[in-house]
Amino acid sequence: MAGIYIHIPFCKKACHYCDFHFSTTLNNMDEMVQAICNELILKKNRFNDSIGSIYFGGGTPSLLSETAFGKIFNTIFKNYTVNSNSEITIEANPDDLDNQRITMFRQFPVNRFSIGVQSFFEEDLIWMNRAHNASEAESSIKRAQDKGFENLTIDLIYGYPLLSDKKWRSNLNKAIELNIPHLSAYAMTVEAKTAMAHAIKLGKQPNIDDEQSAQQFLFMVNTLQKANFEQYEISNFAKEGKYAVHNTNYWKGIPFLGIGPSAHGYDGKSRQYNISNNPIYIKNLLQNKLAETIEILSLADQFNEYIMTQLRTMWGLDLLYIEQKFGLSAKKHFINNIQKHLKNENLVQENNNFYLSANGKLYADRVASDLFLEMEDFEN
Ligand code: SF4
Repeated sequence: MAGIYIHIPFCKKACHYCDFHFSTTLNNMDEMVQAICNELILKKNRFNDSIGSIYFGGGTPSLLSETAFGKIFNTIFKNYTVNSNSEITIEANPDDLDNQRITMFRQFPVNRFSIGVQSFFEEDLIWMNRAHNASEAESSIKRAQDKGFENLTIDLIYGYPLLSDKKWRSNLNKAIELNIPHLSAYAMTVEAKTAMAHAIKLGKQPNIDDEQSAQQFLFMVNTLQKANFEQYEISNFAKEGKYAVHNTNYWKGIPFLGIGPSAHGYDGKSRQYNISNNPIYIKNLLQNKLAETIEILSLADQFNEYIMTQLRTMWGLDLLYIEQKFGLSAKKHFINNIQKHLKNENLVQENNNFYLSANGKLYADRVASDLFLEMEDFEN
C-alpha cells in the first residue's frame, strides 16, 4: 500500500540547528492549505494502489487549524482509497498539544502523534531555541495518552555540548517511564547556514564532539534494548510490532506521494522533488500547476538507494534480492565490496543477509558509500 507525505512548511520559531524547509511567516497558511489540496487532487491518479499511511511532517503540522485539517482530510478521502487501518501520523510540537487541540484531533482519523520533544531539560530547549518548555515536553505526552492516543513516538537529540551523559541517561529514562511504544533519536549535526553553524564559526559555542555522539549513541542502544525496544533502524526504536508504517515503507522502497513545498515522492522508478519556496509553490498550485522536478532513477541509483536505506534497518541487505532485481554484475560488485567490512566486523552475515554490527552502525554512511556502484559497473 502506498503512502502520502504532506509537508507543512511553517514553524513558530526557527530552532538553531534546523535546516528543514519552513517559514516563520504564518500569514499565508490558508493559501498554502488550498495549494496542498490542489496538489493532492492533481496527483490522485499517480498510483493505482490504496493508501496505507498518511504522514503530516514539517515544519510544524500541529500549527494548522481545525478548518485546515478538515479541508485536507476531506480532499484525501474524496480522492484516494484510504485503507481502514492506515497509520495516520501528525508531527506535533509539545506546546501545540493542549487538551483542546488533542480533543480536536479526535474528530479526524489521526491515530498517531510524533512529538518533537528533543530534550526534557529546560536549558537544552532554550539553547536549541525550541518553542516549547520542559514541562510541556512531558505533559503533552501524558495528555495525549489520557485522551486515548496510545500510538505515540517522540524525537530526542543527543551529542550536543550541553548534554552531559547524566542528562542523556535521564532523558532516556524519562522516555521509558512515559511508556511510549516508539522513539526516534538523532545525533545533533551542524548544517550549513543554520544559527548553530554560525555560532560555531564565530567561536561562540563549541563544535559537536563526534566521540561524545558515538558514546551517547552506544549508551542509548544498550539502555533501550534493556527496556525492550527493538532498534529496527539506526535512529528508530520500537516496542514489539510498533514499527512506524510510514518510516518502514520509506526504507523498504514502497511508493509514496510527496505533497507540499520541499516534499519529495518516490514511485520505484523516479523521485519527484517539490520546490522549496512557499510563495512559488502556492502560486503554481493555485493555478493547478505542479511545482516539481522529476529525477528518473537509473538502475545504479536504485541500487544505491536500496543500499543506503535498507542497510540502516534490522532487515539488512538481501543478496538474493540484489541478484534478482539488479542482476549478476551488481551481485558480484556487492560481494567484492563487502569483504573488508565483514573482515573488520562492521557487517555481519547470516545466510544471504548482511546487517550492520552494533559498532558498524556508527559507520553506516561509510559502509554504504563503499557498496555504491555506477552504471558502468553493470555488465551488458
Ligand atoms: S520545529 Fe522542527 S522544523 Fe521547525 S524549526 Fe524546529 S526543528 Fe525545524
